[in-house]
Amino acid sequence: MNPLTLKIIFTIGIVLSLVIRIPYQREQQKNIIIDDRKTAQEKGSLFLIFVGMLLLPFIYVLFPWLNFANYSLPIWVNGVGIVTFVLALWLFWRTHHDLGKNWSPTLQIREGHTLMTNGIYHSIRHPMYTSVLLWCVAQALLLPNWIAGLAGLMSFSIAYATRIDQEEQMLLDQFGDEYEVYRQRTKRLVPYLF
Ligand code: SAH
Repeated sequence: MNPLTLKIIFTIGIVLSLVIRIPYQREQQKNIIIDDRKTAQEKGSLFLIFVGMLLLPFIYVLFPWLNFANYSLPIWVNGVGIVTFVLALWLFWRTHHDLGKNWSPTLQIREGHTLMTNGIYHSIRHPMYTSVLLWCVAQALLLPNWIAGLAGLMSFSIAYATRIDQEEQMLLDQFGDEYEVYRQRTKRLVPYLF
């Protein structure tokens, strides 16, 4: 597929993801935070995500500087990328909708926080991270560049690995047995598998 078309599709996806997040970001600012675990490591992870999922893709889309690292993919692989991208966006929206006021960009518990265990959270505990993972796969298939395409997967993998245990520990500290029971009966990212 024409690289320009793919760049346009990816840029539209970025804009849509920001639009999905805006109302939740606004709501979240009204929360009274009772447990904040935004450590230096967590700030580092967020920065890494910013570089891998926004900054490098935008450099690739807008400037020719990374073109030395381009590769080419068959058109059907681009098609798989588009389907994956749409799925990622839908799941991104759905997880924000289901978490509602309990969503936060970092590791936090708000006053009145409730544990979500139904809707999209019924069989997996981290569907928003599933959506980000799908997005990163789509990024590699839509931006055929060894740097900009793969930076999402690299940065998300590192951020996920450093964050996930801390997030589950925070929820366990807050919800105790309720979270433990939920943890026993669900998987993290892929229903029934992982
Ligand atoms: N890891 C989740 C949520 C990411 S947003 C997912 O991938 O879908 C991060 C915030 O969501 C955390 O700070 C935590 O407070 C909150 N959170 C995570 N799982 C939750 C749940 N099941 N119910 C309520 N809040 C949750």
